[in-house]
Amino acid sequence: MEIEDFQGLIKEIYFEKDNRRGVEGTFVWFTEEVGELARAIRENNQARLREEFADVLAWLVSLASICKVDLEESVEKYLSGCPKCGQKPCVCSES
Ligand SMILES: [Zn+2]
Repeated sequence: MEIEDFQGLIKEIYFEKDNRRGVEGTFVWFTEEVGELARAIRENNQARLREEFADVLAWLVSLASICKVDLEESVEKYLSGCPKCGQKPCVCSES
């Protein structure tokens, strides 16, 4: 599935609700999902990890939609490698 298609799907399911709640309220929900992902990582539970990664991605994509950001376009900055060093894999210093 393309990023554009996923954003369209999540928009179809949640846009009205999330847009009504607004950016700030939806951002709070997003951060709660990130917290659930953190717990799944700590538990190292593969089934929960799959679920929580999907939830975090769905909330992120929905946030992008209510902020009028097209993710298919915005990820283009990575198409030719790391946006800083331009390499694949990145050779930027970790410090
Ligand atoms: Zn780099």
